[in-house]
Amino acid sequence: MMYVADEKRYETMKYNRVGNSGLKLPAISLGLWNNFGGYDNFEKQREIVLGAFDRGITHIDLANNYGPPAGAAEENFGRIMAQDLKPYRDELIISSKAGYYMWPGPYGEWGSKKNIIASCDQSLKRMGLEYVDIFYHHRPDYDTPLEETAGALDLLVRQGKALYIGISNYDAQRTAEITKIFKELKTPFIIHQPRYNMFDRWIEDGLTDVLEEEGLGAIVFSPLAQGLLTDRYLDGIPEDSRAHRSEIQFLNEENVEGTLSIVRELNEIAQKRGQSLAQMAIAWNQQQKAVISVLVGASKLSQLENNIKALDNLEFTADELAAIDRILAK
Ligand code: NDP
Repeated sequence: MMYVADEKRYETMKYNRVGNSGLKLPAISLGLWNNFGGYDNFEKQREIVLGAFDRGITHIDLANNYGPPAGAAEENFGRIMAQDLKPYRDELIISSKAGYYMWPGPYGEWGSKKNIIASCDQSLKRMGLEYVDIFYHHRPDYDTPLEETAGALDLLVRQGKALYIGISNYDAQRTAEITKIFKELKTPFIIHQPRYNMFDRWIEDGLTDVLEEEGLGAIVFSPLAQGLLTDRYLDGIPEDSRAHRSEIQFLNEENVEGTLSIVRELNEIAQKRGQSLAQMAIAWNQQQKAVISVLVGASKLSQLENNIKALDNLEFTADELAAIDRILAK
C-alpha cells in the first residue's frame, strides 16, 4: 500500500538545535545499527522506520557497516526510501559513517582519505541517495594525520555528498584538535556521536566541556545500554532479544546478569516517576546540556512509541538524581 505520512507528525516531537548550527534534530532519533539487517523481517523494519517518521522522528542514523551483514541496513533503508520516503527526502536528516572495517585490505577501514571517500560513495549507492545530511568519521585513527581525515570529510561537503560533518567516539582532546582544523577549513562540523547512558558516563569527564565551548551538539548512542536499561530483561532473557540473538555480538546473557540488581532498583525510581525505565533513561540523558538528541534503537514499533513518551517528563528533582547516582555507584 502506498505510504502517506501522518498529517500530525510534527505536533508532539521536540526539536533541538545542534550546537550553534542552523540544524535542528528531534530530541529522539532512530538508529539502524541492529534489527535492520539481512536477518530481520523487512516489513517490520519498514513499519518501524515509517512509524518513527509519522511521530516526528526526522532523523535516521546509519553507517556503512550496519547490518548484519555489513551494508545490509543501508540497503534495506534504501528500499524504504525508494518505496515510501522519496517524496519526504527534504523532511529527513539521514546520516552515515565510515571508519570501522568494511572491506579487505588497507583501505577498508580507519581514517585515510581513500577510505572515507570510497566508503561514502558506497553508502550513497546502497541507500540510493545523492547526498547524506550528516557524514561521520566513526572512530579516531591515530595512524592517519588528523589533517587528512578532516580534509577528506571537508571534501565530501565540497563535492555535495554531505551537508554537515560529525565525528564519533573521539575523546575530548582529539575532538578539540579536529575542531581546530575544521575551523580553518570552514567545514560545517557540528556534531559528535558518543556513547552515553547511566552505565557509561565517560563524556562527563571533559568531552561535554569541549562540545559546549565549541558550540557543538552531542547525539548520544546506546542510551538504553542496548536494552539493559529497560524492563526487557526483568523476567528473564526473551528469545527475540539482543542479548539472546547469536548474530548480534555486542550484548550477552552475562551482561544482563551483571546489571540486573541495579536495573531493578532503577526501575523502582522510574515507577515512582510514573515512567518506564526506558523513558527515565532517555530523560536522564537529556539532563546533559550538550545532548541535543538521544539515538535509540528498536526491534518493534511499540518500543519506539514507549520511548517517545519520555518527552512527557524530562524533569528530575535533585533527590531523584542523587538516588540514581547512589544506585549507579554500587
Ligand atoms: P539502545 O541503547 O536504544 O538499545 C536499543 C535496544 O533496546 C533495542 O534493540 C531493544 O532491544 C531495546 N529497547 C528499546 N526500547 C525499548 C523499550 N521501550 N522497552 C524494552 N526494550 C527496548 O541503542 P543501540 O545500542 O541500538 O544504539 C542506537 C543507535 O546508536 C544505533 O542504531 C546506531 O545508530 C547508534 N550507534 C552508534 C555507534 C557508534 O559507534 N557511533 C555504536 C552503537 C550504536 P531488543 O532488540 O532486545 O528488543
